[in-house]
Amino acid sequence: MDTLIVTLASMFVFALGASIGSFINVVVYRLPAKLSLLWPPSRCPHCLNQLQAYDNVPVLGWLWLKGRCRYCQSHISWRYPVVEAITGIMFLLIFWLFPFSIITLGYWAFCSWLLALSLIDLDTMTLPNPLTKSGLVLGLIFQMIVGYTDASWAGLARHLIIGIVGAVLGLWLFDAIAILGIFLQKEAMGAGDAKLAAMMGAWLGWRYLLLAGFVACTIGALVGIGAILLSQRKWGQKIPFGPFLALGSIITIFGGKPILSAYLGLFS
Ligand SMILES: [Zn+2]
Repeated sequence: MDTLIVTLASMFVFALGASIGSFINVVVYRLPAKLSLLWPPSRCPHCLNQLQAYDNVPVLGWLWLKGRCRYCQSHISWRYPVVEAITGIMFLLIFWLFPFSIITLGYWAFCSWLLALSLIDLDTMTLPNPLTKSGLVLGLIFQMIVGYTDASWAGLARHLIIGIVGAVLGLWLFDAIAILGIFLQKEAMGAGDAKLAAMMGAWLGWRYLLLAGFVACTIGALVGIGAILLSQRKWGQKIPFGPFLALGSIITIFGGKPILSAYLGLFS
């Protein structure tokens, strides 16, 4: 019986995540173009025919149309179903790894913001203010709710401070990362990256922000060196850093505690 409930709940959570992923695709496509997120409903970018509800089902819609528009047969990028599947998997992992609570809901939101920001950064080399700002505010609200559930008003105040210190450190840290980031072009680390780091600080608090920043720089440097060795990029060519910050954050929420205690264990 328990297995059945867990299986059904898991299917529901994946479907929920994939639907959010579908909306993330809309945000990533429309926000940088300054189009309305809610109107018009999804339509083919080529023939502008509105998608039917059954074609709009996350992942499956793309599969049964075999990646082509029902009306004009033009290709629909594989990125849409992949983003939906990735969001579904992230939702599922968070659901499985954390006891169901406000943390689950909070991390679902945090990961959705991170994924949308990463994709926009990859597409346009920018991190739009409306997303980083709303993400920062949400992060502080998340801290307050977690703190209040933990230890009433005193907990709320303590967690709010943790979030604010994290956000401020995120802005400052960014200059330090830019100096360390020899392998990343400094111009590529724009104001948007600092705002993303501030948003991460609000969600993660200062300790986990440092860990996430370190992981992001390490992976970023490895990928940067790898790309140069494979001659995919010239020395000093711009690489969007937002996706690495997002990846660092996601690795931190999944593995932060064990990584930090193993690291601190080295000194004790
Ligand atoms: Zn079409």
